[in-house]
Amino acid sequence: MEIGGRRVRKSKKIVAESSYPCMLQLYSCPPTGIVSLMEFDEVATERLKILRTVERVNLSGQTRNLEEWMAKLYDDFAKNKYFIHTADKISSNKRDEVEAARRRDHVSHFILRLVYCRTEELRRWFVMLETDLFRARFLHCCKNGGDIKSFMVENNLHFTPISEEEMHDERENLINGTYNISSGDAMEGRSFYKVPFTEALELVSKRKVLLKGGWAYVPDTDLVTLVTSVFRASLSQSMAITGRALPQLRDDERLVQLLEDFDKRYTGNDYSVKKGPDAPQITPDMIDQLAVKSFPPCMRQLNDTLRTTHHLKHGGRLTYGLFLKAAGLSLPDAIHFWRSHFLKNMDIDKFEKQYAYHIRFNYGKEGKRVDWSPYSCIKIITGNVGPGDAHGCPFKHSDPGVLRQRLISYKVSQQAIGEIMDLVSKNHYQIACQRYWEATHNATIDAGINHPNQFLEESLKHLHGPQQPNQGKKPTQVKGNRSVMYSSQSSTQSTQSAESTQSNQASADDNNPSSSVAVDSDMGDNELSLELMLQLIDADEKS
Ligand code: SF4
Repeated sequence: MEIGGRRVRKSKKIVAESSYPCMLQLYSCPPTGIVSLMEFDEVATERLKILRTVERVNLSGQTRNLEEWMAKLYDDFAKNKYFIHTADKISSNKRDEVEAARRRDHVSHFILRLVYCRTEELRRWFVMLETDLFRARFLHCCKNGGDIKSFMVENNLHFTPISEEEMHDERENLINGTYNISSGDAMEGRSFYKVPFTEALELVSKRKVLLKGGWAYVPDTDLVTLVTSVFRASLSQSMAITGRALPQLRDDERLVQLLEDFDKRYTGNDYSVKKGPDAPQITPDMIDQLAVKSFPPCMRQLNDTLRTTHHLKHGGRLTYGLFLKAAGLSLPDAIHFWRSHFLKNMDIDKFEKQYAYHIRFNYGKEGKRVDWSPYSCIKIITGNVGPGDAHGCPFKHSDPGVLRQRLISYKVSQQAIGEIMDLVSKNHYQIACQRYWEATHNATIDAGINHPNQFLEESLKHLHGPQQPNQGKKPTQVKGNRSVMYSSQSSTQSTQSAESTQSNQASADDNNPSSSVAVDSDMGDNELSLELMLQLIDADEKS
């Protein structure tokens, strides 16, 4: 099978631009044509959301088998109207829409290759999630009668079933050596593929298949494993190639701007403060009760510290102040709230001179007069926390012993504490927080947790229904999805908030006249030629 080779790519170039007969792609040919900067940013963001959805579902532990896992993913894709949902329609009378969605799939995959080829850690994350996405799509295609055969032929995936004769000769060995076949009856109607064992390492390592003379005998039910292994191997190789050729892009400022820190982009809801009669509203006297019932542990910890010491350091005041603002605490109430605590330690003059300014600053009434957004989980988790600070994510920044004690004091069950501590030990902080939410609300939360204000919002919705008094409209969405996850992929992430999402979006809309990638004289400054994908690989081949 030849993937990413020059000959295959050139012969498929036109096809890749104009036609996508199958929902599945091995992405062996880069896309061609022209894409606007806006679309470039848009499709890449959507794919990032899709991959984060896959990661969240993988880590949620809510699915028991591949079938359930695939169904849950497709539910999410449909709910959020991701292009995958349209691209993976087997039969549709809106052929143009399906083709357009498949092109978005194609283009977005290659854009994220540019983003994620920069470091080993990023590459690993991308290859893992893309492979899982491919696995789900392959299963979906098989289940819904998609044309797997054409896909296999087109991509030179020639897995030929063994002959009846060989099947007969190896019958006993196959029964003994195949993990889900325990009797002759289970062999009825089955076929086996004989492949070099190196192409079925995943199955071999789990002792799931018969191994003989360097060949692995793979049952048809495990075809997905074979094809997925090919996908993973070719993508890993392509990522290494793209990484080596990437420096060529540095001259194009537009691309540098678009790709920079893209992997850290926040893709959740915008929890900036809302205005108008339907905006959420809380008052200082509600805070202590809300903190116990509905605040996430990070904010409950800040509230506890404020109640006991009547003081918070700068980072804590900023994090908690912005959270309360987005939760619906007005500026006069915020001044009243902070003053009621701080005056237990200082006189009014000191408070007015040193602290009131910063409260007004948070609300955009001082300094740059920006209506600052509250911090997302990623920003809190990846932020710096020093000695004596009360801010930060308890799942990330607290000592395990302290965290355990705190969960006990919050009356979390022993079983849930065990699960949470296990997730924390694997660095899955947001999933641990999701488990905490579920344990304290006795319900499940499919969307995961990606923002402290989302934690609060989901809690209030659960406790009081969508139309609780004083808690008005849902926050507006940035782009419809709620999935954004800190993970091993983001362990080196710096901070990112909703306002930076907006500025990223704005920068994508800007026209930057300094283009060095443009190869088409009819192309505008706000458009990119996807030929650059070909250029990258051509350069690598030449070198
Ligand atoms: Fe707060 Fe997010 Fe950590 Fe939960 S995961 S405690 S909401 S920062």
